[in-house]
Amino acid sequence: MSSPRFPAQNALKRLLNRFLPRGRVGTDPALAGSQGRYRPVPVYNLKMPWLAATDLRRSRRPSEFAFEEGKKLTVIIPFRNRDEHLAALRPALEAQLDGQHIDYRILVVEQAGDGIFNKARLINTGILHAADDSDYYCIHDVDNIPVNADYRCPSLPLRLVTKLQTTHRRETEYKDHYFSGAITFRKEHAFAANGLSNQYWGWGKEDDDFFFRLLMQGLCCFADYQGVYRDLANPQSQHFTKATQKRVSPQLSANRHRRNSMLRLQLDPARDGLNSLTYSILAAHTEGRFEKIVVDIGSQG
Ligand code: UDP
Ligand code: MN
Repeated sequence: MSSPRFPAQNALKRLLNRFLPRGRVGTDPALAGSQGRYRPVPVYNLKMPWLAATDLRRSRRPSEFAFEEGKKLTVIIPFRNRDEHLAALRPALEAQLDGQHIDYRILVVEQAGDGIFNKARLINTGILHAADDSDYYCIHDVDNIPVNADYRCPSLPLRLVTKLQTTHRRETEYKDHYFSGAITFRKEHAFAANGLSNQYWGWGKEDDDFFFRLLMQGLCCFADYQGVYRDLANPQSQHFTKATQKRVSPQLSANRHRRNSMLRLQLDPARDGLNSLTYSILAAHTEGRFEKIVVDIGSQG
């Protein structure tokens, strides 16, 4: 893996970044003059030590954004226990992909067993499993149904979701550094970032970490500001409410802590990701361009 773009380059910087207070990054040079449908995902609200923020701003050159035709897409859907969502997503997604003449396949990666969910490991499994057949990927939540979406192969990582049609969330539009829901990126981006961290268990923050890994490779991430998705409500048992927050809070605070260490440039993506994932496929089922694999991705401990 090539070395990240703005890591703490020496022991002194590393030490300072570890202990300096975190504040907002502030001005985002990549946003200067940006306009139109596809624009950089802003970083000004990220909270980092000022030294790391300075490095990030330096690496934020405005970048060319374009699409390329004739590339092979694998849509990776991390999954467990959401059959109703998958039944709604699949026809809507296939209609979009067919309508846009995309050369695609859909890969559902299901976590076996009832241990704590690890979305990032499922995505990493999908990336490796489909690598020989893919030029680019879309990592796709099972409960986000495309309404207005662009699945073409982007030159830089692209968040497809900006507006949400929702009955159960307060936000209906993502204006900040949100980088989740449905994202397309090229295979070389996935491998440059070493995929996602394998260490986020349970709900939350693995998506921020992935955004940051891409930024650390000097990749300016974009968003489709006309991207519209319908967001299905989670099943009752998986509702993220005050009550369930109590249940997941040990994992969530560990995830927050890890994400914050990432923002302090204290973690090395080269040591945790695609190159350190272990998984085994327990079952596989293929039906035309649709494939579902059930995988053992290990458990927390
Ligand atoms: N997911 C799943 N089963 C689970 C938890 C998560 O399949 O038990 C997958 C699914 O693709 C889902 C994504 O992970 O869309 C994000 O999880 P979730 O919907 O719980 O996140 P939230 O909507 O609460 O942000
Ligand atoms: Mn959801």
